[in-house]
Order: sequence, then C-alpha cells, then structure tokens
Amino acid sequence: MDNYNFKKIGGYTEFFKEDILNLDTEGKNHMTKLATISMSGGLDSTTLAYKAIEDGFNILPLNINYGQKNVIELKAFKEVVSNMKDQFGTRVLEPIYLDLNKIMSPIIESWQKQRDSGKILEKTGFEFYTPSRNLLFSVFAVHLGEVMANDKSLLSLAIGLGIHKHSDDIYSKGDYWDITPEFVERLDHLMELNDSTKVSMYAPYANSTKADIVKDAIRLKVPISSTWTCYDPVKTKVDKTIIKYTPCLECEACKERQQAGEEAGTKDINDYYIYLNEVGLICDKD
Ligand SMILES: [Zn+2]
Repeated sequence: MDNYNFKKIGGYTEFFKEDILNLDTEGKNHMTKLATISMSGGLDSTTLAYKAIEDGFNILPLNINYGQKNVIELKAFKEVVSNMKDQFGTRVLEPIYLDLNKIMSPIIESWQKQRDSGKILEKTGFEFYTPSRNLLFSVFAVHLGEVMANDKSLLSLAIGLGIHKHSDDIYSKGDYWDITPEFVERLDHLMELNDSTKVSMYAPYANSTKADIVKDAIRLKVPISSTWTCYDPVKTKVDKTIIKYTPCLECEACKERQQAGEEAGTKDINDYYIYLNEVGLICDKD
C-alpha cells in the first residue's frame, strides 16, 4: 500500500473519465460497462476488481454474508474497497452488503459439522468447500446488477467471478464444479436469454493459476497485505480489549496463497494481520 503512486493513479482515473461519463445528447449520464463483483476481501476477488477497472468497467462491489464467520473478511473487504474508491473515484460504486446470515447460518453450521468430522475432505478433496457458493453469488450479482442497470441506463452488465484454475486432480473430484471454466461458459449461455440487459460473465482468471493472479495483483498494485485469505486465523491477545489475528499458515488457503506467492516471486505473501476488539468488532490498532 505504501508503494502507491497516487499521482499516477489519479491520471489513470482521468484517462477513463469518458468511459464513466457517457453523456447523451441531453447531457444525461450513462454508464457503459458495469461489473458486479462478489468480493470477499480475499486476494482473488480483490485482484479481479482491479482487473475489471483496468478492462474499462465501473464496478459494483458486492459482499455476501452467507453464514460464514466473516468479520475478518469483512474488515479486509471494507479496506480494499476504500482503497479502490480513493484511487478510482466514481468508477467504484457504493458497495452492497447482502446479509443472508439469518437464512443461511443454520445450513452452514450443519455443513460445518460434517466438515469437522472430515467427511467433506474425504468426499471433495477440499476441507473448506462450500456448496454451490459461486452459483449463489452469481445469482445475486445478476439480480442486483439488473437493478443497477435500470437505474443507470446501463448498456451492458458483467458478473465477476474470481475463480482460477486448479490441478486436474482437484477437478477430477467433481465436487468443485462451480470453479471450472465450463461453469462460467454455461452461465454465460444462460445469461443470453436475457433480452432486456446484455449480461455476460467476467472471469478473466478462470484459465489462470493462483500464481498468475498474484503476478497480476503485483502488476496492478493491489494492496495484497490488506486482503484476507486464511480460514483458521491465529488469535493473539494484544491487550485487555484488542486481539491480533494472523494467518495460520497451515490451512489449505494459507498453503495455496504461500505456494502462489513463491511461484510469483513474493515469499512474504502471508505476512499480514488485522486487529479486532474483544467482542469481534473491527478496530484500527495502527
Ligand atoms: Zn490459514
């Protein structure tokens, strides 16, 4: 974050100004391209958002609480969106927080019990697989994007998904179906049925590795240390009220981030932390 050249980024925003303000003959503002992006505060979806800006989209950040314990991710999400708004101005719309916690937390809790018993890992090869998460996110992203499309006279809408390529071994397990390029292609076909708004999927990393995403994150000056990846953070009490959270370095998400970082030439990619207060509320220690 310290390495940002704000002057340069300011110029970058100016460069795209015409793309933001597409005025018609009556001077009415039309946005031409909008990408609704489900952002968790993680590295993949954050890099996707920066990539969408580079590709000429305005973005609508969407944060979905589907019953996961997401207060740490939420802190990361708020920080990266705040950074993006500083850099890209009106091209980053006010984020939408979709709270499905009441509906979904009993379901997710039941799923987590199965996960804790090891059954999920045995069946899917992934300890932290969440059923049909990307399908769920895409449905809400389309819905909210269409609402925005009507309001802003939008010409085209993209649904961003920060998925990336995994090994053949993982795909062969079959239960991570909604991270595959085929998933994106089929949703794209489905969206073609929509005659009123031109909707397409936007998943530029679907055929890339996680290391490719890290390389792009570096190129796009994504504040990598503000993103959160770990599923099982380590708590350290700093004082009476404040807890420091650091990545565990052991869970599959930490290991994947570390491996990708090393492949991309960034060994210290897991060197990040956040502070929360004793009741789990977000606080800024420094
Ligand atoms: Zn971890």
